[in-house]
Amino acid sequence: MKNTYKVNNPATGEFISEIEMNTKEEINLALKKGHNAFRKWSQVNAHERSDLLKKWMDNIQAHKAEIAELMTRENGKPIKESLGEVDYASSYIAWYAEEAKRTYGRTIPSHNESKRIVVTKQPVGLVAAITPWNFPAAMMTRKAAPALAAGCTFIVKPAEDTPLTTIRLIELAHEVGIPVDAIQYVIGEGKEIGEIFTNSEFVRKITFTGSTPVGKTLLKNSSDTIKHVTMELGGHAPLIIAEDADLDFAVSQTIASKFRNAGQTCVCANRILVHENVMDEFANKLTTEVTKLKVGNGLEEGVDIGPIINEKGYTKIIAQVNDAISKGAEVLVGNEYNANHQINTYFVYPTVLKNVQLDMKITQEETFGPVAPLISFKELEEAIEIANSTPYGLAAYFFTNNYKTGIFLHERLNFGIVGWNDGAPSAAHVPFGGMKESGLGREGGTEGIEPYLETKYLSIGDL
Ligand code: NAP
Repeated sequence: MKNTYKVNNPATGEFISEIEMNTKEEINLALKKGHNAFRKWSQVNAHERSDLLKKWMDNIQAHKAEIAELMTRENGKPIKESLGEVDYASSYIAWYAEEAKRTYGRTIPSHNESKRIVVTKQPVGLVAAITPWNFPAAMMTRKAAPALAAGCTFIVKPAEDTPLTTIRLIELAHEVGIPVDAIQYVIGEGKEIGEIFTNSEFVRKITFTGSTPVGKTLLKNSSDTIKHVTMELGGHAPLIIAEDADLDFAVSQTIASKFRNAGQTCVCANRILVHENVMDEFANKLTTEVTKLKVGNGLEEGVDIGPIINEKGYTKIIAQVNDAISKGAEVLVGNEYNANHQINTYFVYPTVLKNVQLDMKITQEETFGPVAPLISFKELEEAIEIANSTPYGLAAYFFTNNYKTGIFLHERLNFGIVGWNDGAPSAAHVPFGGMKESGLGREGGTEGIEPYLETKYLSIGDL
């Protein structure tokens, strides 16, 4: 009998589906199929690949309400966010359907009259992806779309908590004629599948979105066969409120950045650094707005904050808040919980903490929850030092209307994504990715297709 696992709704504990896990043999067979399909798919001309991607996107849009509901049921995020994620996931397919036609090479003037030099791009081969639960649609299409556009074949292992959205999206790709072996999924335990992917001679590229420790393991394991790698890893974003910031606008953007997906995003504002002269005003305004956020089942009207994905995530958040309180942090709102351990539902009410200090866990570890810690600073230099004092370097935000302050902060912050008066900078047409231990490579934009391409140089002599 095959091993299975159950997917349940994290808001209600309701059983959604029982999923069969693939055996090692099945996974290896899927890799072989993906490898064998590569020759044919890579020779489908770029315009045809582009058309197929557009049809996939149209098919997803035609099923938007169904996919969004499925996503909310397995992930817990509010339905308005799931609808937004279906659009966001689609936008990567739309963008790379166009980029498929632009994987240009070049000619180089020769150093010798009898030679011609040509540079071409070709797809790397079979790509194996591992994706997280927090954006079950977008984290998959952000990888699959450029891979298929480049002419690579693609296989993905979705997160155990949220496999259903991925499975449905891949069914929709097959429905429009993308070959079944060109885009596949496998189901199973992360560690085991990670090892199969990294050991496989058929896989030419590993692309991973998830935590930094798992990313490090995949990087090490990819070295034996020198695979291409893209790593989209953890973050610990600073958000700086300068003395001159428009505080009402900064509050609205802080909420967008901090509380989306119940604070379970890699680009969430995790360390909110506020100039001491505006701390009280900012804290009051933020608290007023946070108090209005409604917590509950994401399928219900008006809900802003869904559940925490699982007990592990919930326990980590509570430990960070308790540690902060024990070291002197003041709770302005929140620090309320609603857990039902029998049915595995875990809610954290949006929380704002003041007087947060640098020795607290919440300023040192990635926070994956709806908790906003406010840290006071006097000088911009001090804010920059605190902001950069982390192994992570994914996203940073700052709020100022002074262009000198803005340029200064932009140049000094060591983060791959910087939002200046912008709490939501992600988009399909921009390069998303981190510095330091937040990752390697970029997804999105013109940069996002490059990691799926090899550069080949041809020298023609004897002319
Ligand atoms: P995770 O534990 O690293 O899991 C992510 C994926 O990796 C899941 O599919 C998981 O499978 C799999 N996995 C777990 N252990 C593995 C192993 N030893 N080898 C191979 N695969 C393994 O991360 P998470 O807690 O689900 O996701 C949150 C993390 O993702 C945060 O750190 C967040 O910052 C990061 N993230 C980064 C980005 C970005 O773009 N930079 C975007 C979103 C999230 P199972 O589910 O089966 O365990």
